Amino acid sequence: MFMGHYAPAVWDTQRGKGTVLVPVWIAFLAVQFMDIIFACLAILGIEGDTRMIGGEPYFTIPYSHSLLTSLGWAAVGGFLFKLFHPSSGAKGFWMVFGLVFSHWIFDFIVHRPDLPLWPGSQIEFGLSVWNWPYMAFALEIGLLLAAFIYWVRVTTGPRSSLVALTCLFAFMCLIQFAFITAPGIQVQAGNFDPASALSGPSLGMSAVATYTILALAIAWIERRRAPKTTLQT
Ligand SMILES: [Zn+2]
Repeated sequence: MFMGHYAPAVWDTQRGKGTVLVPVWIAFLAVQFMDIIFACLAILGIEGDTRMIGGEPYFTIPYSHSLLTSLGWAAVGGFLFKLFHPSSGAKGFWMVFGLVFSHWIFDFIVHRPDLPLWPGSQIEFGLSVWNWPYMAFALEIGLLLAAFIYWVRVTTGPRSSLVALTCLFAFMCLIQFAFITAPGIQVQAGNFDPASALSGPSLGMSAVATYTILALAIAWIERRRAPKTTLQT
C-alpha cells in the first residue's frame, strides 16, 4: 500500500478530549516508518530488489517488512515517540506502536505474498490486491479521503487550510496513480523486466523524498487547524 497508509494517521487528532496526543505530521512519519526503514536499507543496497515468481514481481523486504521485525519497528517507533514526548505515557507508546504496525496490516492486503514471517522465512503473506491495480487505487484513495473528511470534521481552521488540504489530496492521488500504473505493480504476467523498474538506491531516495514532502505539507496544514473541542472549552 502507499497513500492508503496515511488513513490511520488522523485517528488520534482528537476524540472529544481536546488535546492531540500524536500530531498528524508525526503520525504521517509513523505510518510510513517501515517504508522509511526499507528506503534506508534500499539506499544501502540491503533490500529493494524485485524477484520474479511465476511471472509476477515480488519485493525483497525481509528486514523492513517481515511480521516479526515489523513488531520490532513498531516498538522502536513507540520508544522514539516517548523519548521526545515523555508525558504521553504508555498511551503515547501504544498509539505510535499501532500507527507503525498498521503499515504491515495494510501492506498485507495489497502486496503479493512477499511479507515473510521473519527474515528468511519461507512463509510469506500478502492478499495480492495489487493484481487488480484499479481496485487497489480505489481502496487506497477511498481510505485517504475518508480520513481527510474525518479530520476536517473534528478540526477547525481558515479556508486556506482547506484549500491546501484539497491540493495535498489531489497531489497524493497523482502519486498513487503513478505508483499503481508503474511497471512492477501493474504487471501483465511475463512482460515485466525488473531491471527497468525503479529499485535499490533510486527507489529508496524517491521514497524518502516523498515521505518528507508529505510530512512537511501536512505539518504546514496542521498548524492552521485546531481540534474543535480545544476552541470550545
Ligand atoms: Zn511497505
